[in-house]
Amino acid sequence: MHRKLKPCPFCGGKPEFLHIFENKEKCMIECSVCDGGIDKVFLSERAAKAAWNGRVILGRKAKRLIKWAAISILSVILFLIGKESALRERGYSAIGGEYLLLLLPVFYYIFERVIKDWIEAIRELIEK
Ligand SMILES: [Zn+2]
Repeated sequence: MHRKLKPCPFCGGKPEFLHIFENKEKCMIECSVCDGGIDKVFLSERAAKAAWNGRVILGRKAKRLIKWAAISILSVILFLIGKESALRERGYSAIGGEYLLLLLPVFYYIFERVIKDWIEAIRELIEK
């Protein structure tokens, strides 16, 4: 009895349980087409299924989210470093240029957008 397994995330093939041990419950799970699988022996088909179906393959949205989170964190870290060194240089705290670092994600977005537009414009010129 095989409960519903999601198709292979690599090739879309049908996954199958492999019972290669004396204990009938213990199993591994892998794709019947590309042999892609989880490199682990599970204590039950249920555990194997949960691991297989719960696997998260990063999509475009998740990658974008991670990219923007990384840029935002980087801007905050750079800001804190800049603020610290500015304080040391001045000897007093004040609002200075280091606050511009907090706008790094905005600058990055604009920069990325402009570059993409340029590439698109150049492509259109070449195609004409
Ligand atoms: Zn596969």
